[in-house]
Amino acid sequence: MESMVTTVRAAVLETTGGEVRIGTYPAAPAQPGAVVVDVLHAGICGTDIHLQDGRLPVPLPVILGHEAVGVVRELGDGVDADATGDRLRAGDHVVWASSIPCGRCHYCVALHEYSLCEQRRVYGINQSAQVWPHLSGGWAERIYLQPGTALFRVPAQLSGLEVVALGCAGPTIVHGLLGRAAPRVGEVVVIQGAGPVGMAAAMYARLAGAGTIVLVGGPAERLKVADELGVCDLALDIDRHTEPEARIDAARQVTPGRRGADLVIEATGLPSAVAEGIAMARRGGRYLVVGQYTDHGDTLINPHHITRKQLEVIGSWAFSAQHYERYVRTLPQVADHFDLVRLVTEYPLAQVNQAMSDMRAGTIIKPVLSPRL
Ligand SMILES: [Zn+2]
Ligand SMILES: [Zn+2]
Repeated sequence: MESMVTTVRAAVLETTGGEVRIGTYPAAPAQPGAVVVDVLHAGICGTDIHLQDGRLPVPLPVILGHEAVGVVRELGDGVDADATGDRLRAGDHVVWASSIPCGRCHYCVALHEYSLCEQRRVYGINQSAQVWPHLSGGWAERIYLQPGTALFRVPAQLSGLEVVALGCAGPTIVHGLLGRAAPRVGEVVVIQGAGPVGMAAAMYARLAGAGTIVLVGGPAERLKVADELGVCDLALDIDRHTEPEARIDAARQVTPGRRGADLVIEATGLPSAVAEGIAMARRGGRYLVVGQYTDHGDTLINPHHITRKQLEVIGSWAFSAQHYERYVRTLPQVADHFDLVRLVTEYPLAQVNQAMSDMRAGTIIKPVLSPRL
């Protein structure tokens, strides 16, 4: 237990459009039910870029970071196990579901759809750094995990970087792909987008038994990594296939009878991708739209194709502890098949703004902040 007041360095977003600043916050000892964790690695996600741009309303200032791995520093009274029942001790490596549902709203109580909870608290997104316990984001030396957080011990064979490599894209895809659009053995799967969500979709589609996987994205550096990792059978570079018609044709060409894909997954975040995705799917196919996490506005689609193709269009929003548990359980299998660390570019906490601008440039796949660097 700590008695002295110590301060913790954290990367905080104070104004939208502004740079992230390194500030210091008081460390709180763990209250009953809470867990204090020293952060080893914390991912930077596309959502963080959108937060900086002011595309999601959040209470500022906020310590960003909703995907991280760390070491248990202090367990509050009543916490002696993780969410699977495994014994938890100081020094254990842990990860945690990034949101805490309210447990009282219609979506929590009647539907058990915890990611749809209207009052869920999300680390690194909707908790002000000015409000106790302050340390509610992963881009910091330490994070205070509040009672109700689903915490998991990291499987022993995984390194910290392997755990954080897919970031929130991993559990998001476990929810959307495995939970809602279930790929079947032998299916042709087309994935739009070569960022972490697209990569995670390709990896899980492969493990789930997809026959042919086509990744449509860019830039070339990302597709090179996708190829090296073996996540797809064909990578279509959007910088070479610059017209939508060319991309649609190229994707359909690898499907039986050029009829289109059994399953198309949208992982771009670009509204204009949706009309293309609809065109890439076969009649009677499925279209999982999982990449539109922030509101980029309207787009033009022809809904006739949805009816005529008898297309199943599936949305999927974020993830809950249930999906996170499955993610942690399946991650050793993912790491066995794919070199996850290849996705990562590591930065010290103080270089957070450099990491964010490199991510904006799109040449790196997964920037990770390591406060101990
Ligand atoms: Zn994220
Ligand atoms: Zn709720």
